[in-house]
Amino acid sequence: MSRPLKFRILVVDDEECIREVFGQLLQREGYEVATAEDGFDALLKLKQFLPDVIISDLNMPRMSGFEFLSVVRRRFPKISVIASSGAYGSRVVPTGVLADTFFAKGQEDTQTLLSSVADLLQTSAARAVAHQEESAPVWIPRNGKDSNGIPYIVITCTECLRSFPLNVTKEENPEVLETLCLFCSNRVKYIIDFSLSVTSPRRVLSTPLRTTETAA
Ligand SMILES: [Zn+2]
Repeated sequence: MSRPLKFRILVVDDEECIREVFGQLLQREGYEVATAEDGFDALLKLKQFLPDVIISDLNMPRMSGFEFLSVVRRRFPKISVIASSGAYGSRVVPTGVLADTFFAKGQEDTQTLLSSVADLLQTSAARAVAHQEESAPVWIPRNGKDSNGIPYIVITCTECLRSFPLNVTKEENPEVLETLCLFCSNRVKYIIDFSLSVTSPRRVLSTPLRTTETAA
């Protein structure tokens, strides 16, 4: 009998030490591991390395885990996902995060992570079916203000794939919202990702405002 293929795990985290620690831990368990440093990097990795399980951080620059996981659920519904974050107190999957399970980084020990991986591998066939039946909401970074100073987002329709802008009038906790596509009237489910606006470096504002005061 030929040697069974190794299960593959993709670790996505912007912190290098987390990628190393998780990577070594999983390799010692006999898994084949690849790592990526944010959502975009992970999508590139997925072109060559199709994992059985993805472990992804949520707050990352460029493309957050929220957005990345919603893309994964739509494009790779067979992959099981663990969302990992130190930013939530509870051990449940945060609202709207498309993950099978949640790992509270820094609060739970790594043994818990390993048993979550093992559980997901055992139940992956059933989960793949459930994933395909779900309609995954799109996570959208809030990406600008219009000429009247009102924040807007750009939504890409999951059906006709055309994009259209939508004004955002209030900031709410992440929840699943719905809108009709301007072009095909498909009902698009979306969630606004405020995590990027919190963590992104604001280069424009970094010009020293204090100098005007001190110079006066
Ligand atoms: Zn459409």
